[in-house]
Amino acid sequence: MQNLFIRNVRPMGADPTSVTIRDGRIAGYGQEAGGGAEILDTEILDAGGAILIPGLVEAHTHMDKTLLGMGWYRNEVGPRLIDKIDNERAQRRLLGIDPARQSARQAVLAASLGTTHIRTHVDVDTEVGVAGIEGVLATRERYRDLVDIELVAFPQSGMLIRPGTVELMDRALQLGAQVVGGLDPAAIDRDPKGHLDVVFGLAERHGVPVDIHLHEAAELGAFSMELIIERTRALGLQGKVTISHAFCLGMTDQDIVAALIDALAEARIHILTTAPASRPAPAVKRLVEAGIVVAAGTDGVRDTWGPYNHPDMLERAVLVGLRNNLRRDDEVALALDTCTHGGARMMGLEGYGLDPGDRADLVLVEGETLAEAVVSRRPRRLVLKGGRVVARDGVALVEAP
Ligand SMILES: [Zn+2]
Repeated sequence: MQNLFIRNVRPMGADPTSVTIRDGRIAGYGQEAGGGAEILDTEILDAGGAILIPGLVEAHTHMDKTLLGMGWYRNEVGPRLIDKIDNERAQRRLLGIDPARQSARQAVLAASLGTTHIRTHVDVDTEVGVAGIEGVLATRERYRDLVDIELVAFPQSGMLIRPGTVELMDRALQLGAQVVGGLDPAAIDRDPKGHLDVVFGLAERHGVPVDIHLHEAAELGAFSMELIIERTRALGLQGKVTISHAFCLGMTDQDIVAALIDALAEARIHILTTAPASRPAPAVKRLVEAGIVVAAGTDGVRDTWGPYNHPDMLERAVLVGLRNNLRRDDEVALALDTCTHGGARMMGLEGYGLDPGDRADLVLVEGETLAEAVVSRRPRRLVLKGGRVVARDGVALVEAP
């Protein structure tokens, strides 16, 4: 494997140094680490003072159904959640959304933007079966040197209301999905106990973590959240459960929110936020201060749900900052942390970070300071995956289909 010696890098915006990458990991910092005889089989690069950060972590997206590279989708979808779900199932057929091709397009785009790890929720339902899982598994394999992809088996259309879905979820986990998903236990399946018993039952049987989409607002969401917390504790799944969106934590009744935050922290349940501009949302700083792991994700990218999202995790850090009124430099760093270490902790990534011995999944970003690099989000100077250069000046070195 090619070794790398990169001069003139500033880890997290600190003073310039050099970094040596050997066998896909960070060997050390400073001139001496790359010196001596080893320099002969080492590629030498100059970062020109760029800031070194660990690879960006996209902790929640839907790669199987992005419309990237397809014609513009004219969105005339109804306002309810179920309108979007039903429409999407219909459009999947009409538009010919190929999960392997579409997930590959997003994987390459994300890598060009510095993302080195992705958790993607992949639809499992009685129409598509496990075809989405198979397509994204093919992308995971094909692009394994570009980006790590973790699949969540996701019952987007509901589970108990569509008989046969539970068996397909089981099959998806057998095929290689690494996480069991869930969705609004009360609002979609209308059977919160039944839905969560199945989700946690699958987690136990397959020994996998849980990641549940919880859009349910206010008291209804709080009720479902309490049921998730109970099951996490009862099954000893502390540290293995994520609640995505968790809009109910943005509710106005602060007494209920405070009690939920305490219970989430105690059960070591992680919270994933997209920092939505148009919905109540969890207060990131408050959760972090309570000791809760907070990760960030893009959610669907340019799909039938909405036209806006772009899988740039520096842009997501800006959105987290805007949504949470984070202005100071240390607060912008916190917003970025949800897109790096927060996601890594949520996903339980081994060897993630900038310490010697950590995996060389790294990004060089441009800016005078870390905060400037985030807000200006210029094309990434260099992206390394497992110690190899996978993107340069904003362009991935492999082509998307
Ligand atoms: Zn989602």
